[in-house]
Amino acid sequence: MDYYSSKITALIEELGRLPGIGVKSAQRLAFHIINLPEEQVTRLSQSIVEAKKNVRYCTECFTLTDKELCPICSSQKRNHNIIMVVETTRDLAAYERTGKYEGVYHVLHGAISPMLGIGPNDIKLKELMLRLQGDIDEVIIATNSSLEGEATAMYISKLVKPAGIKVTRIASGVPVGGDLECTDEVTLLRALEGRVEL
Ligand code: ZN
Repeated sequence: MDYYSSKITALIEELGRLPGIGVKSAQRLAFHIINLPEEQVTRLSQSIVEAKKNVRYCTECFTLTDKELCPICSSQKRNHNIIMVVETTRDLAAYERTGKYEGVYHVLHGAISPMLGIGPNDIKLKELMLRLQGDIDEVIIATNSSLEGEATAMYISKLVKPAGIKVTRIASGVPVGGDLECTDEVTLLRALEGRVEL
């Protein structure tokens, strides 16, 4: 049954498709948006469209960026021989916030999950292997400590070790099942410094 105008219903439906937004939140957001000044709504919708149009993967590390190479990959100050493998751009951002990591990253965009039918070919693993043909001293695996994150870490270490490259895993100071991006900076640094060789 349509309680609202069909335009509002459509907005509620679209918002409700976003992750973590249930029906009630979608309704609350929709009515909030309707009550905003028109300029603000225009800015919001334009920023969504612009972000979608201009954001792409860095050709090196596959983080989200608006240039061919992200600022980290194009920086001379970073150590390009150390690659930290993370699941998402948000995890990369969490480590960047510590300000203490000097290497570069590789963003997988997911983790291997047989349960969800996500295999090695569904994440940016081939791309990682290609990068390892260069001059690499260490691969730090910083996937989450979830089942999927651990499975992915094992898979990567098996692929990388035969190439004679040092492979380390961040320490399990990160709470089990905890998302990296929700972990505070001190814990992240401790996990990085306490990484162990696989
Ligand atoms: Zn990059």
